[in-house]
Amino acid sequence: AKEENRGSFRFFEAGMDARMQERRQLEAELRIAIEQGQFEVHYQPLLDTGTGRIASFEALVRWNHPLRGLVQPVEFIPIAEESNLIIPIGEWVLRQACRDARDWPEDVKVGVNLSPAQFKRGDLITVTLSALSNAELAPSRLELEITESVLLHDEAWVRSILERLSALGVGIAMDDFGTGYSSLSYLRTFPFDRIKIDRSFVADLVKAGDSLAIVQATIQLSQKLGMETTAEGVETQEQLAILAGEGCTHVQGFLIGHPVRAEEARQLVTPQAPR
Ligand code: C2E
Ligand code: CA
Ligand code: CA
Ligand code: CA
Repeated sequence: AKEENRGSFRFFEAGMDARMQERRQLEAELRIAIEQGQFEVHYQPLLDTGTGRIASFEALVRWNHPLRGLVQPVEFIPIAEESNLIIPIGEWVLRQACRDARDWPEDVKVGVNLSPAQFKRGDLITVTLSALSNAELAPSRLELEITESVLLHDEAWVRSILERLSALGVGIAMDDFGTGYSSLSYLRTFPFDRIKIDRSFVADLVKAGDSLAIVQATIQLSQKLGMETTAEGVETQEQLAILAGEGCTHVQGFLIGHPVRAEEARQLVTPQAPR
């Protein structure tokens, strides 16, 4: 029995080793990717349900890996966050998004996701202001998206940063609403301009009554708090019709458009592409 146990333990160890090695490999490759600029930003449109026009684009990072091809965030953001490499990656995304947004009409905004690690350093405000001024973009054209995990980090510190950014005119959105913890008190004490309803609620909006009730309540809540509401993951006309009927101000999802490269995004909001 002793031998068997040892055998299975070693097998388990080998499995751990392989995962650890894979992780370390990916982290090393991420460092190279940062040095060599292997990232790109894709843009997904948010539609204004009132006007039927594109109100903004969300910046979504992709890793253009020399061998693996286009790597999606789910495969590298967690490792980038654990290793703090999300700090330089996130800063690059922010700067690139501001540069790309400069080519869009002035009423089209850009949304950029921020990770908790980007708040740990003291320079988020400086970096944001520098990204805006280098791109000659008005602060009101930028909206920063944060999840509740950011607020759990160090509430007072995060609040002071968000309040300063908000005072400068930068928009603040609560991302993936409904999936985290004690969201309601955060809505009261942080300067949010927008609630983004997580796509899990939109996914079974039509079938299940519970999701519809949650979506209705969230839209009413954000209306009463003077915020806008974006529903994420809108894939069908039926979902769009329900959301628009409930007063959801913006929708985002494959029905409206998939994330596309900067040039394609520009063409979506520029009537005549210059030749
Ligand atoms: P997110 O912020 O919730 O972004 C929306 C995700 O939903 C995107 O996945 C988008 O492609 C996907 N999506 C949009 N519409 C639909 C739809 O109709 N149906 C379905 N099933 N999915 C839809 P993506 O690009 O893979 O990004 C995944 C997550 O990675 C993002 O979730 C965000 O948390 C993170 N992420 C992406 N870019 C960045 C970044 O630059 N910085 C940070 N910190 N995180 C990022
Ligand atoms: Ca987001
Ligand atoms: Ca504000
Ligand atoms: Ca989201």
